[in-house]
Amino acid sequence: MDTFRLSFEFFPTKTEEGTRKLYEVRDQLAVLEPDFFSVTYGAGGSTRDRTLDVVSELNRRGISTAPHLSCVGDTKANIRDLLQTYSQNGIDRIVALRGDLPSGMAASTGEMRYANELVSFIRSEFGEQFHLEVAAYPEMHPQAKSYEADLLNFKRKVDAGANSAITQYFFNIDSYFYFVDRCEAMGIDIPIVPGIMPITNYSKLARFSDACGAEIPRWIRKQLEAYGDDQESIQKFGEEVITYMCEDLIENDVEGLHFYTLNQADACLAICKNLFP
Ligand code: FAD
Repeated sequence: MDTFRLSFEFFPTKTEEGTRKLYEVRDQLAVLEPDFFSVTYGAGGSTRDRTLDVVSELNRRGISTAPHLSCVGDTKANIRDLLQTYSQNGIDRIVALRGDLPSGMAASTGEMRYANELVSFIRSEFGEQFHLEVAAYPEMHPQAKSYEADLLNFKRKVDAGANSAITQYFFNIDSYFYFVDRCEAMGIDIPIVPGIMPITNYSKLARFSDACGAEIPRWIRKQLEAYGDDQESIQKFGEEVITYMCEDLIENDVEGLHFYTLNQADACLAICKNLFP
């Protein structure tokens, strides 16, 4: 377990109040001594300054923090400038993504279309200066032509120089193990760390899952639907389900866990206390 890596993801908020709360959540999660925090980025640069501010502050507070960076709808010059600023601020890890542009914003404005191009660009401009994380999709990226094509596209990112990957969240644990086996068979040997989404609210989870292609198994969906507005039962059930899932992953030697916190500490703390008492 010495090399097991724990990480927590935040999003930059729009208000001072939201940012203050984010730093409180950071302090609550810091007691778990994660290897790093990460902060999302709005594709096309829409959260450029907010992501930079939050990443710089979190990093300053002592736990290494990785900005997410997407390439779609942005220019190489903008991306180079931002990476230089990160480098000057002591940031040494980047989550390199294509991103999803908000509807109505034209992807044709960007100079790079896929995350493998961003990984190549960062390597060509900054060498080995950054540890590069990329995204992986055990249940397939929703826009992929096929499962096989998506696997090959994942391999492109690894061949371009990614050091490790974080998966889209999933509740079908076999999809993760199958994906990792297929990657191994293709000679991919970077850590593929499961992304974990705590279950705390049914309607939001259903909406996210539809959009990102994560399946909520029937037995989970039915129970969450039956709880209706009973938030306490949803949280108790969610904690149990995600704890079991993480225990299974850990027993099968995953190299770490990456939690999508949605800027909330309680569910992550409860699950991690069950896992690492
Ligand atoms: P890619 O790896 O480029 O793949 C996108 C699609 O194109 C896939 O269907 C793939 O099969 C296909 N493809 C890839 N390369 C090629 C190629 N060379 N030729 C043809 N087809 C190709 N979004 C944000 O906007 N901001 C964030 O901060 C953010 N953080 C995320 C963090 C994680 C851990 C994950 C899993 C996702 C995150 N996302 C974020 C969402 C992500 O941006 C979307 O899922 C996006 O649609 C794909 O990004 P990607 O980097 O996986 O793209």
